[in-house]
Amino acid sequence: MTYNQDEYIKQHNHAAQIANTLRHSRYFLVSILIICLYIFAIYQVYFTHQSFYFSIWFIFTEVFVSLCWMISTVYFKPGQYSLQIAHRWLQFQCFSVGTLIASGIFLIFYYLPSNNENFQPIQALTLSALLLIVTQTFGLTYLTQKLNYFCLAFLPSIVPYLVAQFFFFDETNHLFNLSINFGLIVILMCAMTSYRIHRRVSTLYAKNNLLVENAEQQVKWTDELCQQLQDEVNKSRDIEMQLQLGNQLLEQKVKERTFDIETMNKDLENQQENLVLAHEIAGLRPWDWNVKERRISVTNHKHEKSLRSSKDHQIQLQHVIHPDDVMHFKTEMTRHLRGLTDRYEATYRIQNSNGKWNWVHDIGRVITRDPNNKKPLRMVGIRRDIHQERTSQERLKLAASVLQQAAEGIFILNEELRYIDVNPFYEQLTGFSHEQIIGKHLFDITANYKSAQRSTHYSIIKQVLKMGEYDGELHEKFLSGKELTLWMHINAITDEQNRVTHYIGIVSDLTERKLQEQRLSYLENYDTLTDLPNRFYYNYQLHQYLVSQQDSIKQLAVIRLNIDRFRPLNEYLSNNGGDELLRQVAQRLRLTNAEALFVAHLNGDDFAIVYEMSHIRPSVQEHCERLTKAFSLPFNIFGQDHVITLSIGVAFYPEHGRQLDYLNNCAEQALSEAKNLGGNTIRYYSNENTALLEQGIFLERDLRKAIQNNELVVYYQPKINFRNKDIYGFEALVRWNHPEKGLIPPGLFIPLAEQTSLISDIGRIVLQKTAKQIRLWNNLGYNNICVSVNIVAQQIRRGQLLNDLDQAIDDNQIDGSSLELEITESSLIENSDSVRNLLDEIKKRKINISLDDFGTGYSSLSYLADFPIDILKIDRSFVSKIGENKQQAIVSAMIAMGKAMGMTVVAEGIETEQQMQYLQDLDCDIAQGYLFSKPLPQEEATIFLENNISAPTYTYLI
Ligand code: C2E
Ligand code: MG
Ligand code: MG
Repeated sequence: MTYNQDEYIKQHNHAAQIANTLRHSRYFLVSILIICLYIFAIYQVYFTHQSFYFSIWFIFTEVFVSLCWMISTVYFKPGQYSLQIAHRWLQFQCFSVGTLIASGIFLIFYYLPSNNENFQPIQALTLSALLLIVTQTFGLTYLTQKLNYFCLAFLPSIVPYLVAQFFFFDETNHLFNLSINFGLIVILMCAMTSYRIHRRVSTLYAKNNLLVENAEQQVKWTDELCQQLQDEVNKSRDIEMQLQLGNQLLEQKVKERTFDIETMNKDLENQQENLVLAHEIAGLRPWDWNVKERRISVTNHKHEKSLRSSKDHQIQLQHVIHPDDVMHFKTEMTRHLRGLTDRYEATYRIQNSNGKWNWVHDIGRVITRDPNNKKPLRMVGIRRDIHQERTSQERLKLAASVLQQAAEGIFILNEELRYIDVNPFYEQLTGFSHEQIIGKHLFDITANYKSAQRSTHYSIIKQVLKMGEYDGELHEKFLSGKELTLWMHINAITDEQNRVTHYIGIVSDLTERKLQEQRLSYLENYDTLTDLPNRFYYNYQLHQYLVSQQDSIKQLAVIRLNIDRFRPLNEYLSNNGGDELLRQVAQRLRLTNAEALFVAHLNGDDFAIVYEMSHIRPSVQEHCERLTKAFSLPFNIFGQDHVITLSIGVAFYPEHGRQLDYLNNCAEQALSEAKNLGGNTIRYYSNENTALLEQGIFLERDLRKAIQNNELVVYYQPKINFRNKDIYGFEALVRWNHPEKGLIPPGLFIPLAEQTSLISDIGRIVLQKTAKQIRLWNNLGYNNICVSVNIVAQQIRRGQLLNDLDQAIDDNQIDGSSLELEITESSLIENSDSVRNLLDEIKKRKINISLDDFGTGYSSLSYLADFPIDILKIDRSFVSKIGENKQQAIVSAMIAMGKAMGMTVVAEGIETEQQMQYLQDLDCDIAQGYLFSKPLPQEEATIFLENNISAPTYTYLI
């Protein structure tokens, strides 16, 4: 601090010295100007002599001093200068002035006396002394602020005197010298003293300044402190006021609270009463256990309080609590008393006065504990009878699980018919999640685009709101995309005042059942292969046309169609190909019969069309021709083109009959005729026709009767051995001996019988009759007669054949080798394994197997090797064409092949000698045909035998 203070004083003194000297130097300079002017003027006035150097000195001095004055005044304004520069400037100024004065003294003292005779040395001494003394005096006055400045002016100015004293010692006035030296020393000492005084004053001034500054600082701090004090006082006052306000508020609040507490106390008292009532109603029984005093206050079922010892209470409890629940009760209580649980809670059964177990829920809490050892002192609790609640809960759970598990959609609606709950099955049905359905209106989740749908919904809602229930079937499309047929049952739920609170809906999904029904109906009425109505539906529909709409429909044509030679083509194409062909035929029929009432697929390759005749439609003939034309285009089956032709039979309503059966038979008859004509033709039923229908025979019905009435007879067509013209045997051919209509050929009823079970019956009858006949012939001695019986695919398929054969053989005691079965190629196609097994079984009975109508089917020749076939029967169609080159070649190839395979070859339908000769030449084995005999009734056949076999012994060809 002292150092700082000293430094401050030093700096202050230095600055004060410079500042004061700057200010005083201006007076000093002015003094120098005046003294120089005075001396120059005296010299000029007294000595009227011009001295060049002296004038130069004078002018230079005056100019220089004036410049110095101006610089000091203008440049060094207070507070605007650097101390360093000012210090240097003052040093320079003092030294220069001292030097100028020295040079003036030199000129006056040495030069002027030598230059001016009038100017005496004493005068020179006086003037120079004057200049020196005045200068020193002014210096002493103005430059002693800093000794340095004074010395810089003083020392150069005395140089001329000192020089003169040393160098002109003799010439100078010694007294003067001594005086002036003394004077100069005095001046110097005065200067030093003055300097010290100045410095001390300056120091004092500086110290004073410091003190003043300190004092001012102290005053400032004091002011600030006073201000802070004042602020604090103000704050204290504010706080005091706030405190007072707070106090007032607090008092107010305390008053309010007191009032509130009083009100609450009153409320509490009321509530206490309410609580007691509530306890009473809710079946709550509060208890209060003073653990310390071992007393417990309990409320009984009549809500009367009683006080008893806790020990008694426990003993009583253990007696009434269900043995299974005692442990649970004790554990929970102990855990809570030990402070392990927040509250005690136990559900257990208690035996009531009539011995029944009641569920109770006991809940309590220790409200006071010993602060030292935490032992319970007081515990309160409530026991609640939850028997009813628990039973209801269980029932509710059961109901909820029924809702969840139900395989019916169940929903609950509020009184506005908005969903409030649905079961998972309903979500599944609608395709919406629970969240998506809830809140929606009953039909908000279904599509309501169609007005019919909207009106259905509207009527349902109306009925539900009016009647409180709805029960009905509806077809709904949900917005989720699901489309269902539903049975919906909605019932209103009412409260005690009979107000509707909810609606409950049960929805059953009938979609699958409906589809099933449709499927069944489809299967019943439609042919799955061709998608056309089947025979059943055809008959039904035709019957409808004939019966119900007799008035509206005037004329009908029943058109029956059959694909020519379908069987061989089917065999050739194999099953899939055959099916594909039938599909395409059905499709073409559909397209070409847009104008027809009905197109049906009756069976196999049988189709039917019901066509209404009117002047606005093409005639039946035109229509049928159009059909034939449409069928002239080939069918592409698996990449191969096949051209097929149709046989068409037509019958007309009402001309040919007014009844379904009759009409059908007429059309069938016409079709048979078309077939017999070789196919690819249209035949119209004619009344002159001798066919069955004309005779009023309804095939199926009458055939059954015929079987029952034993109207079927067997004719036998002889087979002749080519080699020796002996009788080889017969072919058994069935005929229907109609009591009224006479003999009906098999071609008219076998095809129909094939489609029904009748064929089995016919087959059995023929077998029996044939076997019986063989027995007769055997009895007559014709032991080697072999009779062939025709078997169709149906008989093989039905699985009765072996039984029938065994029965025929056994019943008539004949040898299996006297029987032969004629089967067609088509019988071998289906299910070849089972057919092979059957044929093997037949072979085991020594019965020969003959392949009938050989060459008419597209038979794969591999059958011949695969199946145990003994005889090849060349079809009549080949034999009849003997004479034509190519056909002959086929016949000879067939015979050659049969023989090469070790088979017996039979040619049927031989009518001419030429045919017989040709076949004989080819080494054919057996001949059959009208050339030898037509099929004969049994008596005639026996006569034929008698006539043609000389002795009843026969040599087998096979
Ligand atoms: P199928 O087995 O090819 O029988 C030969 C048919 O040709 C017989 O006609 C016969 O009378 C006839 N026929 C024989 N030789 C000649 C001839 O020289 N010229 C001409 N024009 N015809 C000749 P039918 O009796 O009318 O039998 C026709 C078809 O009925 C049989 O052809 C056979 O497939 C079937 N059939 C006959 N009886 C039965 C039977 O008891 N059961 C089965 N499932 N079908 C039978
Ligand atoms: Mg035959
Ligand atoms: Mg035949």
